Amino acid sequence: MYKVLVIGDIRVGKTSFVHRLVNNLFKDNYKCTLGVDFALKTIEMDDGQSVKLQLWDIAGSERATSMTRVYYKGASACILMFDLADRDSFNNCSKWKKDLDDKVFLSDDGPIPCLLLGNKVDLKEERVVSDQEIKAFQKEYNFIGSVLCSVKENTGLHEGMKFLTSTMVERCNQIQTANDHDIGFSIDSDEPKPSRLCC
Ligand code: GDP
Ligand code: MG
Repeated sequence: MYKVLVIGDIRVGKTSFVHRLVNNLFKDNYKCTLGVDFALKTIEMDDGQSVKLQLWDIAGSERATSMTRVYYKGASACILMFDLADRDSFNNCSKWKKDLDDKVFLSDDGPIPCLLLGNKVDLKEERVVSDQEIKAFQKEYNFIGSVLCSVKENTGLHEGMKFLTSTMVERCNQIQTANDHDIGFSIDSDEPKPSRLCC
């Protein structure tokens, strides 16, 4: 079971995203998330592997509070979501990403894989954030990639989740392999090293 965070400003569509993924439903209005909501989702990968995720849907108003440290603890991956029709929600992604990278690390001290998700691509007329801006931002802030989606029309989310999940599993396997190698080496050299958890 991997813990995956869903973060971003309030009203960008985080709760709708989780409901779409888990129940395949879209409602026009959800109650404002208070604190954090949890949901479980199994992702079927192309190689037949199933990966279990615990999704943490975090209230978007909480970035400025110390609670995020508690919510982020032990996470293996993250979706940072913004609304393509809301410039502030895009501008605030830099603050979200910095907050995340300051507070959570994989066990090899690297940043957790994070996907940038631009939601509400169905609102074509209202869109204010361009593809070029997203690509430049994604590179500058070290995201694994960016995807445009519409939770409402059910486009882009599943591809994004598969990409994030496979990147996350690959990273965790790399860490595990390095740890196994460390342990093997220490047995040979008679110097036991502490084993570390994967993610
Ligand atoms: P949260 O605060 O980030 O959890 O956002 P919500 O999931 O509560 O969604 C905020 C509003 O955006 C709701 O009215 C949703 O119906 C709407 N919404 C979510 N996803 C989409 C989408 O893909 N397209 C459109 N047009 N509206 C969306
Ligand atoms: Mg919510």
